[in-house]
Amino acid sequence: MVEQEFVELLVVGSIPTLGTTLWDNFFMDLNTSKINNKPTSFLQELDLEHHLHPFTDHKELKSKKPRVIVRGDGVFIYDNDGNRYLDAMSGLWCVNIGYGRKELALVAKKQMEELPYYNTFFQTSHPPVIELSTKIASLAPKDMNTIFFSSSGSEANETNIRLVRHYWASIGKPSKKIIISRRNAYHGSSMGAASLGGMSSMHSQGGLPIPNIEHINQPYWYGEGKNQAPEDFGKQRALELEEKINELGSENVAAFIGEPVQGAGGVIIPPDTYWPEIQRICDEHNILLISDEVICGFGRLGFWFGSESFKIKPDIMTIAKGLSSGYQPIGGSIISNKIAETLEQEGGEFNHGYTYSAHPVAAAVALENIRILDEEKIVEKVQNTTSKYLEEKWLLLNDHPLIGEARIKGMMGALELTPEKSKRSPFPLPEGEAGMITREICIKNGLIMRAVGDKMIISPPLIIEKNEIDELIDLIWKSLEESKNHLEKLGIAFN
Ligand SMILES: *Cc1c(COP(=O)(O)O)cnc(C)c1O
Repeated sequence: MVEQEFVELLVVGSIPTLGTTLWDNFFMDLNTSKINNKPTSFLQELDLEHHLHPFTDHKELKSKKPRVIVRGDGVFIYDNDGNRYLDAMSGLWCVNIGYGRKELALVAKKQMEELPYYNTFFQTSHPPVIELSTKIASLAPKDMNTIFFSSSGSEANETNIRLVRHYWASIGKPSKKIIISRRNAYHGSSMGAASLGGMSSMHSQGGLPIPNIEHINQPYWYGEGKNQAPEDFGKQRALELEEKINELGSENVAAFIGEPVQGAGGVIIPPDTYWPEIQRICDEHNILLISDEVICGFGRLGFWFGSESFKIKPDIMTIAKGLSSGYQPIGGSIISNKIAETLEQEGGEFNHGYTYSAHPVAAAVALENIRILDEEKIVEKVQNTTSKYLEEKWLLLNDHPLIGEARIKGMMGALELTPEKSKRSPFPLPEGEAGMITREICIKNGLIMRAVGDKMIISPPLIIEKNEIDELIDLIWKSLEESKNHLEKLGIAFN
């Protein structure tokens, strides 16, 4: 009844004119915490009024209005108007087991009833974190058996900055402080993590990077190495690490950090020569290697960890996202025996931790997520079946006149948009405009794809079936056609 009245009010008046009291009463009277099933325009008004969004231009949002997503099932999400979208991004690269797995909800409920919270500071532990650490250690390379927990990938990389410096200091090498990363890397959005990242747009806001972070060039062959064979280019970009270490002095360098495949930077897949050379350089110069596995971990590349796929041996792996398939916020750092044993032998407190480090509910949910990945052999299925099928279809997109390169590794793919296939030229438009046009067309067609500049990228749930891959590719092709037409109307010539 109240709801009906409210809707009527909505039609005639606008939300901001309604007093807070009426608004509070509305929720109380409804006796429900759900605001689903309200008109979308109503939800959008309130959202615009009260919610500051991450990575969003609010001036633009005001004209476009936020999409209101209310439900997910498998590889699909649904908006408040009942429209279905194939979520080719797994949310933000995280819903590896797909939406709607009730097992995770049940585990969360049970854990909340039993022990909703307790901390792991000051010599305390609890069963969910003990089980989860043991399980992760069993999946990680055999010389990596210790996990430090956080609630996100950003926090985990904050931990890594402090951990590697603490490690070197505790063995009498306090000058080893500098961490080398890559331009266009993404390692999170907090001060330290964004400093590790190499996004100039992020550095320019807030005076980043913090001291003792250095950047070298990324192994982005399509964008930066076209005149070279990929193998030569990959090796050359890796050698930049050695030059940087020599310039800084290895006695001052603590670690190198990299994503096995750069995600947010636009699914940058390094040439095969890149990682082996990075490994050699880290080993020879006594530099710790941090593999940021926040996206590549938990099956995304058809292995439990992306470093396995590239045969690298990291000292630390950053994890988050797929660790819980996004069902709970949890992240962490998997640490090598070498580092863990050193900390144990040297003693002294690591003055670092988060209230929610190893949150019991998040830990229990992550454990259940890993159980599902493991028992349903989802990672093996990605490696042996789905990623191969997806790759075969993905590479056919190279035939589309709008595509300069379609590249893919495991369940991460990118399409480089270009008006001139043979030269792979950029558009005579502001960078990113063609990408944004294409993204909007995809969404209209029921497909969530992300645009990074003029690259279109995917990272679908790992449980995607062959028929859903077919649907994905059909939707992409259709959207590319429409995008090409749209761009032609803007005066872009294709050849
Ligand atoms: C998303 C991401 C992060 C940051 O994780 P948050 O949970 O958003 O803090 C770090 N590293 C990589 C590679 C990521 O993709």
